[in-house]
Amino acid sequence: MYTLRFRAYASSDVLRELKSQLRLLCEAYNTLRYADIAFHERDGKWLNRTELRQLALDLRRQDREYKRVFSQVFQNVADRYCEARYRFLQGLARFPRERKPERYRSLVYPQKGWKILSTRPARSGRKSWIHLSLSGLGVFKVLAHRPLPDKISRVAVKVTPTNKVFVSFLVEGDLHVQSERTGKVAALDLGISHLLVTSDGHYVDNPRFLERVLSRYRSLSRLLSRKRKGSNREKARLRLARLLERVINAKTDFYYKLANVLARYYDVLVMEDLNVVKMTRDGSRTLNRHLRDVSFSRFSSILKWVFQKHGKEVREVNPAYSSQICSRCGRRHNLSLSDRVITCQCGLVLDRDLNASLNLLRRAGWEPPVEPAEMRPLWQASSMKQEAPPFRAG
Ligand SMILES: [Zn+2]
Repeated sequence: MYTLRFRAYASSDVLRELKSQLRLLCEAYNTLRYADIAFHERDGKWLNRTELRQLALDLRRQDREYKRVFSQVFQNVADRYCEARYRFLQGLARFPRERKPERYRSLVYPQKGWKILSTRPARSGRKSWIHLSLSGLGVFKVLAHRPLPDKISRVAVKVTPTNKVFVSFLVEGDLHVQSERTGKVAALDLGISHLLVTSDGHYVDNPRFLERVLSRYRSLSRLLSRKRKGSNREKARLRLARLLERVINAKTDFYYKLANVLARYYDVLVMEDLNVVKMTRDGSRTLNRHLRDVSFSRFSSILKWVFQKHGKEVREVNPAYSSQICSRCGRRHNLSLSDRVITCQCGLVLDRDLNASLNLLRRAGWEPPVEPAEMRPLWQASSMKQEAPPFRAG
């Protein structure tokens, strides 16, 4: 699900009706709120969502003015109050306040009541005009800066304090990004010293987010283990949890940025099938290796999602022995983990990870270049700068 928000225009009559209905809805919201409080004082119970909706429909039935508002729009006020109260009951917010008309600025068509009458290109290039009919209100001209998909689940109208009107469409499905074809294909080897090395020689260093805060992490976890149960312990636990959360957020953010750079640069990305890696690995897994696996699966799922969003492809291949086989002649070597370079009788002397990525590329059906590319950082190839993670020092 995602939202497309466009500027909209309407005749002065329609705008006057929109504002008038917003005032009515605000009134209804406050009435529902009072009724809920009154019931709670009498019975000690809050009204549930169904009861609030029914109450809203009853209000509408009894009032000629309320009947001007489309029924589902009117009922949606009950949902809005219910959600605000739910946040209060969850301890996330204070009790919903009485709403003031000047601050009640949007209404929602949750399912029906809206219809697109026509769509035609706007005079200025890519944009288009959508004529949108809203039951009980009238016709709005919506200036759309991107095409509107078929599956729209709801429509919301909002008036800003400066009286601009915006229409939001809630769309089912994923957002697709227009991304140019580059004709480029690369395989990617995930590693520890470099986070990744591509078969055309680009590498990205591991950002080491945890290492940067390791001393703080250690002192906080030592503090935590010394604390007995109680409020102090809870405080220490929270501080540690917040630190780890920031590490995870910074890492996720970094992975997304990197995935977007790669998806703009390459049409197809070949990578090792991490499920196969897990299956072929022996039982003696160290903690480091476990953390590495978690990181790699996270990065891999982000890569797949971002490439799909760009309409591009991630292809997974079996990585067995990809780092031990010479990518030029196919001889297998016994490399230990500390060997960073593969040296082969055929004359190939190559970075271990770059060699592995060339093998992955071949397994996906592309012949690697005869002369492997020079290794260079990916950040130079892209216009993007590697940003510092959002940490305080120390
Ligand atoms: Zn060789």
